[in-house]
Amino acid sequence: MSTSTGARPALPAFLDGRPKRLLIGGRWEPAAAGHTLTSVNPSTGEVIAELAAADATDIDRAVTAARTAFRGPWHGFSPRDRQALLWEFADLVQRHFDELRLLEALDMGAPLGRRRPGSRAWEAEVLRYYAGWATKIHGETLPNSIPGSVFSYTVKEPVGVVAGIVPWNRPVANAVWKIAPVLATGCTLVLKPAEEASLAAIRLGELLSETGIPDGVINIVTGEGESAGAPLATHPGVDKIAFTGSTAVGRDIIRSSADTLTRVSVELGGKSPDVVFADADLAKAVPGAGMGVFSNSGQTCCAGTRIFVERPIYHEFVDKLSDFARSLTVGDSLDPATTIGPLVSEQQLHRVCDYLAVGPAEGARTTAGGARIESGPLADGYFVEPTVFADVGDEMRIAREEIFGPVASVLPFDTVEEVTERANDSEYGLAGGIWTRDVGTAHRLAGQLRTGTVWVNTMLLFDPAVPFGGYKMSGFGREMGPHSLDEYLEVKSVWIDTA
Ligand code: NAD
Repeated sequence: MSTSTGARPALPAFLDGRPKRLLIGGRWEPAAAGHTLTSVNPSTGEVIAELAAADATDIDRAVTAARTAFRGPWHGFSPRDRQALLWEFADLVQRHFDELRLLEALDMGAPLGRRRPGSRAWEAEVLRYYAGWATKIHGETLPNSIPGSVFSYTVKEPVGVVAGIVPWNRPVANAVWKIAPVLATGCTLVLKPAEEASLAAIRLGELLSETGIPDGVINIVTGEGESAGAPLATHPGVDKIAFTGSTAVGRDIIRSSADTLTRVSVELGGKSPDVVFADADLAKAVPGAGMGVFSNSGQTCCAGTRIFVERPIYHEFVDKLSDFARSLTVGDSLDPATTIGPLVSEQQLHRVCDYLAVGPAEGARTTAGGARIESGPLADGYFVEPTVFADVGDEMRIAREEIFGPVASVLPFDTVEEVTERANDSEYGLAGGIWTRDVGTAHRLAGQLRTGTVWVNTMLLFDPAVPFGGYKMSGFGREMGPHSLDEYLEVKSVWIDTA
């Protein structure tokens, strides 16, 4: 493993030292109680901004603003108007993409090198994909068997006010994945980004304010989970909760939604299996499975952290994966040479370090990494070494619990039947990976994995047209793709006696 602390780009003008405010009803306002929280650069531990910390009063105002907008001028926006708005916003995101990636590098620690300057602005593509849908949402004319001349049809209507509550691990994408379907379907939104990484969402709110969007259609409230997230999730004025985050909080949200029967979709945690067969092309499988765990410092819900390797190549694979882990450049997120940045926060650092101790204590063998970086230029940041644990048993905590850090567990297997059962032996079901040259094996196993996504001879591919979501305790509902629209729509049946 090498470390990097090279040149850092200049801070964006957005970080002008003034406290960031809440976007409510088209106006930027401080929290009513005047509370704030700080945003910290995880590469250095330095405070980079002060943000308004919303409480229940602010949430109530934001939900009211979203309701007012839903009933008001937004209602008059035609599908074509919403399409044009999404395109306008996409162009702004594209134009400001380097700034947005800089912001998520600063507060979340996503390495700038992961998205090259001027690179494909993926989130703009998501907005354009949903722009296409805005004009294609329709009901059906359905035959009925009622005697006489009774005509029946359905219309799809926006569900109403949406509470979007998102985590910190992909700040721009997490916000856009909620904003885009809301605008396409004609809903309104109160978005609560994660307290650790809110800067990109606030900047997206500023960019939206440059478009012709009516006040209150998109509201952005920063704040803590307990004081801002919980009042939003339980607010009776919310028609639908679109939550992405941990399974623990997702369960609380589902429980509390029972009182109001608020519609809920939940995208939750994962402990994804990645199965490497002996016939796999190791030149592809080693870096593919490796980055399937280590990219974003392992802070990826669908990271393939349980790597099952067929026994004939087990030792060779462990050696190669360990070499790969050591070859990665860990460094300041702003350094373009960095491939692995810091963990998002001190809390996340402690959580991952606990697991680095649990692995060997449970009998796993550390073959790469295994420690926090505590000396040298990265010592003030929240850095851990990309870590490989070999000889991991299925019952070990490192093989069962979501670590959300750059930690791979490698487990040997002997037969397809056995690995199918073991791969599925998890409370989670978000994603899975398969590496083989045998298309039959790939196809059969893809059908048997109880996960919402399966990647074969690749990992972590996303496209706006392809749905993403979980089985089992990884949640329900889908984002991206045509299916995601249904999460934001009601179906109304209309009967007309034409006699
Ligand atoms: P988290 O559940 O702690 O927080 C997510 C969001 O919920 C934050 O905005 C937080 O402030 C808010 N929140 C916290 N407590 C709340 C409460 N009681 N009521 C309402 N809102 C509350 O998750 P995190 O640590 O920010 O993110 C990591 C988790 O997110 C991991 O488990 C990861 O797998 C998951 N995740 C899932 C997906 C997916 O698509 N399935 C994508 C990204 C992350």
